[in-house]
Amino acid sequence: RIRQEETIRRRLHNTIQELRGNIRVFCRVRPVSSSANSTKKEATTAMIQYPDVEGRQIEFAHSTETATGSQIDKAYPFTFDRVFQPSSTQGDVFEEISQLVQSALDGYNVCIFAYGQTGSGKTHTMEGPLNASSESRGMIPRSVLQIYENAKALEAKGWTYTMEGQYVEIYNETVNDLLGNDGLDSGGGKKHEIRHGANGKTTVTDITTVVLTSAEKVTALLKKAAHNRSVGSTQMNERSSRSHCVFTLRLAGKNSITDESSEGVLNLIDLAGSERLSQSGATGDRLRETQAINKSLSCLGDVIYAIANKDPHVPYRNSKLTYLLQNSLGGNSKTLMFVNISPLKSNFNETLCSLRFATKVNSCTIGTATKRAVK
Ligand code: ADP
Ligand code: MG
Repeated sequence: RIRQEETIRRRLHNTIQELRGNIRVFCRVRPVSSSANSTKKEATTAMIQYPDVEGRQIEFAHSTETATGSQIDKAYPFTFDRVFQPSSTQGDVFEEISQLVQSALDGYNVCIFAYGQTGSGKTHTMEGPLNASSESRGMIPRSVLQIYENAKALEAKGWTYTMEGQYVEIYNETVNDLLGNDGLDSGGGKKHEIRHGANGKTTVTDITTVVLTSAEKVTALLKKAAHNRSVGSTQMNERSSRSHCVFTLRLAGKNSITDESSEGVLNLIDLAGSERLSQSGATGDRLRETQAINKSLSCLGDVIYAIANKDPHVPYRNSKLTYLLQNSLGGNSKTLMFVNISPLKSNFNETLCSLRFATKVNSCTIGTATKRAVK
């Protein structure tokens, strides 16, 4: 009964949010890793509380151990559209985004981002483990499955849909094809340019496009992308935390009875790690990487901020990522950002930075923030 009321309340909240604007922020706290090699220090968690029953608040606190227990030195409260505790399952999270995913089938352009430091659960949220059982599958495979099922159900009403998938990586402000066969940054690979047509359609030149004829096919795509990323790089983990991965689903529908048509795009984006990278000491490639990540993440914040603020000029062109997503950000489009955070004490400062970034993105959507650039 309470659960039901909660669900209704949350739906209502989502509807209100819809009226307020098309940008939402969800916070997800990952569980403490149970792996044996996590050291005792790492396993120490920060003090995190979830004060409200609606699941929208999180209080993050710095504490010190005293003889009588922990003492809170300073607490930092944050409010988001939704906060997912470590116990939340992939299914719980998907339930909250399924309407948004559905809207791509209805002809909207949608972007879902995962923002957070390396190790905070971005890839787990978006892709999930690659050999995942159905319960632990991430948002990408779940979205494809849902769209596939909904498209099938709409056949009875005359709709037929084609579903095309692309998966690109933006590394050092260069677009790479994660589904191609040409290696990633070996130098011999194809150059991919971003083009925006007059019809509002975005294309990337020479990119691999896969027609998704079944929901299962997406797992093979994710595996291929993971393989490409690993051979394109000498240090796989480094690479995945230093590039943005954009999975794009294009959905074109035609109705044979009413002659209507619809075109929607769903973008699911696993962002580069948000940890503040120091430029001191970095040289050459590493310095370039660092600058590219810092720039593109702050540019993303600026773009979302400008859209929510209804600024006449939105600086899409300041980074490859925002330029690629230009037609799926702003206007009628819908945006959701997951801010993924770690519960570990050792990550306290980075977590605070992530929560602050997300708050700026979030508070501007309800028009309470003063005008300030998002860093
Ligand atoms: P990121 O992509 O942000 O660097 P990952 O998604 O790779 O982080 O997560 C780091 C580790 O934590 C992985 O081993 C992942 O499986 C685990 N993990 C993250 N989030 C969860 C979660 N909600 N439930 C279980 N394990 C998780
Ligand atoms: Mg990752």
